[in-house]
Amino acid sequence: MDFRILAEVLFPDITETPEDIVKRFPERNLPSGACVTRIGPSPTGFVHLGNLYNAIIAERLAHQSGGIFYLRIEDTDNKREVEGAVETLINAMNYFGVEFDEGATSAGDNGIYAPYRQRQRKEIYQVFAKYLVKQGKAYPCFLTAEELASIREQQTANKENPGIYGKYAEKSRNLTIEEIQEKISAGIPWVLRYKGIETNEYITVNDAVRGKLEMPRNNMDFVLLKSDGIPTYHFAHVIDDHFMHSTHVIRGEEWLSSLPMHVELFDVLGWKQPVYCHTATLMKMDGGSKRKLSKRKDPELALSYYQQEGISQDAVWEFLLTLLNSDFEEWRLANPEADYKEFPYTLEKMSISGALVDLDKLRDISKNVICNMTAEQVYSKWLEWCEVYDKDFAELIKKYPERTLSALNVGKGGKKPRKDLETWKQACEFMSFWYDETFTIQDDILNESDTETVKIFFEKYLETYNHADDSSEWFAKVKSITEELGFAVKPKDYKKNPDGYKGSIVNITNMLRIALTGRANAPDIWEVSHVLGEDIVRKRIEKFI
Ligand code: GLU
Repeated sequence: MDFRILAEVLFPDITETPEDIVKRFPERNLPSGACVTRIGPSPTGFVHLGNLYNAIIAERLAHQSGGIFYLRIEDTDNKREVEGAVETLINAMNYFGVEFDEGATSAGDNGIYAPYRQRQRKEIYQVFAKYLVKQGKAYPCFLTAEELASIREQQTANKENPGIYGKYAEKSRNLTIEEIQEKISAGIPWVLRYKGIETNEYITVNDAVRGKLEMPRNNMDFVLLKSDGIPTYHFAHVIDDHFMHSTHVIRGEEWLSSLPMHVELFDVLGWKQPVYCHTATLMKMDGGSKRKLSKRKDPELALSYYQQEGISQDAVWEFLLTLLNSDFEEWRLANPEADYKEFPYTLEKMSISGALVDLDKLRDISKNVICNMTAEQVYSKWLEWCEVYDKDFAELIKKYPERTLSALNVGKGGKKPRKDLETWKQACEFMSFWYDETFTIQDDILNESDTETVKIFFEKYLETYNHADDSSEWFAKVKSITEELGFAVKPKDYKKNPDGYKGSIVNITNMLRIALTGRANAPDIWEVSHVLGEDIVRKRIEKFI
């Protein structure tokens, strides 16, 4: 068959040549060693932690090397596409501080390798589809869904590999040009298949994460273009990564099994392969064993979970960096104040066994991250979150900016700063006692003493209360009332002789904490009182008298 004629029959409207495309997307002008990376998410409306995990690797590789990091929207599967998904994705990446130099944006495309949305690149792929047909490396296939299903059944029964190859490809491969023309004129749908070769060869790929991989060479007639003329992921990513000049392809390990197809395409097109980096799947512990995170069972797989819970972007980054590089934690201990972007991330230190997503660990990291922020930083990041997820609380913070800032400073200094705040959502709950509008009594004061003693204690407390007392003057007064009421000033005296006292000073201070903050576990009473101010202190205590 004359493949040039076949190419014209299949792609009469494609007039550009591969050379034209080469001219359109010139080499990048970057210093040597600069990495060009991308993420290529599908706009399904669901942005998962894995997207961010791979984005962080790609972003770090590019920006640590003075290279380029871009966003490409892989929308070849329109069945899965959801409206607004691109926006959702970009917003999620923005929220987590992932910044692209180039690619799709909410306002269109940014960069000279545009379009960055695959459906808009249809003609580019078809130029190369046409080229492969001309080379005799690709052919149209008219197999119907029923025929494909019956081939699959036969293969299952014979315990053969599924797919179109060898004898299963014969029918389509052997069509004459007249038969093809006839089917096309009759409007019968077709897909374009790559002409695989029967082989027992192996290929070698040096994966930057996994090392040397040996795999059987592709022998399948896999699909390049679907019946709507849109490419499969396999074909599209090869062309895009070549012309957008990606140096590294960072993607999940679920793509490992299709790697031989990709290698085959780079070879047949005569292009240099990018460095492949297949990253570990995100896992979690479930009843003593590890399993893949599941979209259905695990809310933490969705990136929106971290936004809704108000886990700060810095905490999520730090958490993912601990998963990505085993020595991140060590580095963090040695550099407690440094920006996480100063950490020298490398692909070589990546683990290939599943990355374990442990939410307790994330919360722990988050506490430390917030603890290391200044009160001003906490204030603005927390407020920013509240403006979206808890508008009432945002109003409260803005109504009392000075009190809020002082409150955020309570327990901050010293050798062992308090780590009360874990997430922005939990901060709204924890910080609620600072405002009369949200203050509630949560712990039972009668766990500390009887009603009568509570009343007497608070009467005496207010009688001697002087808001101008410094912390030691204040505490001397508390001790003196403690003694007067028959409570032990030293908790250990009470422990030794519980019948000799009504309780200990711990009960006394707990009463104060409950009255002022609603809970027995709260920051320093003297500091709290000074942020709340005398009026509020007196009013809250009077309620118990
Ligand atoms: N569209 C692919 C996905 O969503 C991207 C894989 C890649 O980065 O090459 O999994």
